[in-house]
Amino acid sequence: ILDLRKIEAGKLDIHPAPINTLEIARETIAACIGLAQEASVSVVMGELVDATINADPDRITQVLTNLISNAIKFSPAGSSVIVSGIKKEHCYHFAVTDRGPGISSKDQGRLFGKFQQLDSTDTRSRGGSGLGLAISKALVEQHGGRIGVESSAGNGSTFWFELPLESEASLA
Ligand code: ADP
Repeated sequence: ILDLRKIEAGKLDIHPAPINTLEIARETIAACIGLAQEASVSVVMGELVDATINADPDRITQVLTNLISNAIKFSPAGSSVIVSGIKKEHCYHFAVTDRGPGISSKDQGRLFGKFQQLDSTDTRSRGGSGLGLAISKALVEQHGGRIGVESSAGNGSTFWFELPLESEASLA
């Protein structure tokens, strides 16, 4: 909550540095191993293109951790979460795919809002504050990037975010 207030007030500084995409993905996956094991879910690397981006490593780790831990939380036991990253023309595109319940298009719009939890008992039993994605959205946008989800009910979800490859200009 503190994070989000600070971001909204424009008080959360971003300290950009060159980050290696492969390294940050690897480290974040390693940090989520405990959570994954508890849930009997494996987290694997899909296609992960090596690139250097200019972004705040702590903040990008925070966003990736949020997406990966959500994916684990909603995954059925025995399934895999796939983390991938590709280079597009003007941005680097990270994606986290799960085989969980998915999200209907009707619900997708409000996911990134504050205190939003899709209100099924199923969701409630998984805990959380409903703030993670709102914070992630703010952090990604502060980097001049975009965040979104591709999903349909029953078919798993892919949460993605994109960071500009030349981001200095947008880091006011
Ligand atoms: P929380 O702390 O409740 O997880 P988030 O902002 O991270 O808060 O997520 C908001 C809501 O979005 C979750 O409560 C859940 O309803 C939905 N959600 C997030 N990630 C997934 C996912 N991978 N699969 C299905 N639903 C998800």
